[in-house]
Amino acid sequence: MRDFSQDHHWLSINTATVRRQQGEEVGLARIIDQCAERGVRAISPWRDQVAAAGLDKVAAQLRAHGMGLSGYCRGGFYPAPDAAGLKAALEDNRRAIDEAKTLDAPCLVLVVGSLPGALAGKAAYKDIGRARSEVHDGIAASLEYAREVGMPLAIEPLHPMQAAERACINTLEQALDICDELDPGKSGMLGVALDVYHVWWDPKLQQQIERAGRERLLAYHVCDWLTPTRDLLNDRGMMGDGVIELRKIRGWVEAAGYAGYSEVEIFSTQDWWLRSGDETLDTCIERHRSVV
Ligand code: ZN
Repeated sequence: MRDFSQDHHWLSINTATVRRQQGEEVGLARIIDQCAERGVRAISPWRDQVAAAGLDKVAAQLRAHGMGLSGYCRGGFYPAPDAAGLKAALEDNRRAIDEAKTLDAPCLVLVVGSLPGALAGKAAYKDIGRARSEVHDGIAASLEYAREVGMPLAIEPLHPMQAAERACINTLEQALDICDELDPGKSGMLGVALDVYHVWWDPKLQQQIERAGRERLLAYHVCDWLTPTRDLLNDRGMMGDGVIELRKIRGWVEAAGYAGYSEVEIFSTQDWWLRSGDETLDTCIERHRSVV
């Protein structure tokens, strides 16, 4: 297992972690500068942040800093109540793939979606089986385009508490079943983004990480699970402040062949988003060394 205690060479910052600083929304250009000042070599930005900052400007700024991406957030949200909605989702995913390409991302992360409309408070239908089949077909279609342009897709299984609104793929096993079905040759174009927050509780986690292997493990996200968790989405903890055995899981991931970044991804309306970005980033670096 790699030694992270001496430096933060393999730390990446998911830019949602510092998208709010002292309660205020902060632009991506500023976040990139804050990461560069600290020698952070990679980030994972969100599409809305990139759109607000300007895609080409972001690409130029990253080049100027010699900074890379550990992933691009995010595509997915495939299910829709009608054919027009399904088509629009596929077109949007094509644009996400193109943006990821412009930013030279190693993969586009997919939060696949579930019951359409549920995120906004009213599901257009309740059949999660239908949502899963629309997700399957959506990923298959995106994969075709992703192969053409050479942009790997990383399915992120989400904790089952988000099965209605955000993702009907909720375990690593389920994600790998889709990978094996759509990409049996393990081409490297379809895999998973493994986020400890979503999968730490899974009794099959170690076994499924072994199954995934190097070809399927495209990204690795860290934070911590707080007790109690006060908000289903935005109460993620800083590494070391919760109950996730981070070293143990990284050991499994690395034993399976993963040698990429540990990407810190923390959504925290009640704590870290109220602090200064400098404090949050310095703490990420310190915890990356001491507990990740
Ligand atoms: Zn994640």
